[in-house]
Amino acid sequence: ATLSVVPELEDKETFDGERACLLVGELRKSFNSGKTKSYEWRVSQLEAIARMLEDEEKEIAEALYKDLSKPELETYITEVSQVKSACSEALQELKHWMKPEKVNTSITTFPSSAEIVSEPLGVVLVISTWNFPFLLSMDPVIGAISAGNTVVLKPSEIAPATSSLLANLTKKYLDNSAIRVVEGAIPETSALLEQKWDKILYTGSARVGRIVMAAAAKHLTPVVLELGGKCPAVVDSDVNLQVTARRIIGGKWACNSGQACISVDYIITTKDFAPALINALKNELEQFFGKNPMESKDMSRIVSPNQFTRLVKLLDEDKVSDKVVLGGQRDEKKLKIAPTIILDVPDDAMVMQEEIFGPILPIITVDNLEDCFSIIKSKPKPLAAYLFSNNEQLKKDYVEKISSGGMLINDTVLHVATRGLPFGGVEESGMGSYHGKFSFNSFSHKKSVLYRSFDVDSSLRYPPYTPQKAKL
Ligand code: NAD
Repeated sequence: ATLSVVPELEDKETFDGERACLLVGELRKSFNSGKTKSYEWRVSQLEAIARMLEDEEKEIAEALYKDLSKPELETYITEVSQVKSACSEALQELKHWMKPEKVNTSITTFPSSAEIVSEPLGVVLVISTWNFPFLLSMDPVIGAISAGNTVVLKPSEIAPATSSLLANLTKKYLDNSAIRVVEGAIPETSALLEQKWDKILYTGSARVGRIVMAAAAKHLTPVVLELGGKCPAVVDSDVNLQVTARRIIGGKWACNSGQACISVDYIITTKDFAPALINALKNELEQFFGKNPMESKDMSRIVSPNQFTRLVKLLDEDKVSDKVVLGGQRDEKKLKIAPTIILDVPDDAMVMQEEIFGPILPIITVDNLEDCFSIIKSKPKPLAAYLFSNNEQLKKDYVEKISSGGMLINDTVLHVATRGLPFGGVEESGMGSYHGKFSFNSFSHKKSVLYRSFDVDSSLRYPPYTPQKAKL
């Protein structure tokens, strides 16, 4: 584990509770000095991030290639450009976000005025994950800085090249008295979680989300948990088939090989329509990745041997292995699994019970598309739910009846890039949200302030509580 800058601790080998405590103490001192609260400091750090994105684009692409063999253009589209827009939006809107919001007052407080003042929380912790290791680290950090906090980022050890790059870039570009990176795995994260933070934003699995929330509860620290889940895509038979297939592939295999929290996890369609949909998916997959997708340079690999083994187990379960209608090939050395479609696996198969987070796509067929509601509702609330349909009533019902973190009709994943929308889960898929103004709000305290004058002072509210006052 390396820590960006705590010079007096440089000789200590491990990042333990003592180091974590000193680090938080240092950042609290910086916060208490008041410098991170100023508009100028926030802008200076956001501008430094913008500069870093320009200067270091090649290094970022190289790190992501090392960690996930992510194609350079995919890295640009799904990570770098997203961080760029988060940063430029913050720079553009910050003054507006920071401005106290006037609210109406009532006769009870007349004469008075009231406003909501956004104040920074203090020292915040961002724990990030490996699948979009650059975006899911920098996007929350931008929110934390915009809101005027000091921040520690703990990237994922499972994407080591990006983790190390984030530590180095933070040292090089940002104010290290207020913004730090701690690299490491469970011991380092546990040491950090022992400390008192003013907010924790965690991205990862619900299992670890529970550990984070339990640790935060000890200090009454509020949390944002960005978790995952099984995101369904319901496909009606009245759709533009080619566009639907392309958009499903775009949000599944062309999105980090399905290793994305909002990736399509499974499809529900009718028995009658399934053959046409499968055929369209096959055709478009060939257009995207060629006849031999295992050789394609346009598809990321599986991040680690552990994840590879987990995915192969899902595929090789007895109830599943004879349901493969496309793909199934795997290469353990290259950590690659071909785009794989499985048809009508039983619901108690592991692949239908856990989040897949990889290039396997089950298609579940039903007699009537209306059955999709009971299937989706039988599972924990997902982070995203998709519907492809031209039927206005079905769209309305889907939005009304399905509870999910986010929802997208007639496409996949793009809602995450719509910065006016909050991004976050519900129940098992998470709590709280971020992106744009929602990030600023997540890392701010909304302080209610009422201003009164000495002009009018009715005695009605004061003792003695006489019968005459009660009549008024
Ligand atoms: P993970 O929970 O294993 O790891 C995430 C982070 O937690 C890492 O930084 C890791 O070091 C730390 N960690 C792991 N075990 C820990 C422990 N015992 N104590 C303390 N910290 C620990 O998650 P993952 O495998 O990296 O990510 C996969 C999950 O994340 C999926 O469910 C996916 O849907 C979800 N995800 C959600 C989002 C989102 O934005 N909502 C984005 C990406 C991934």
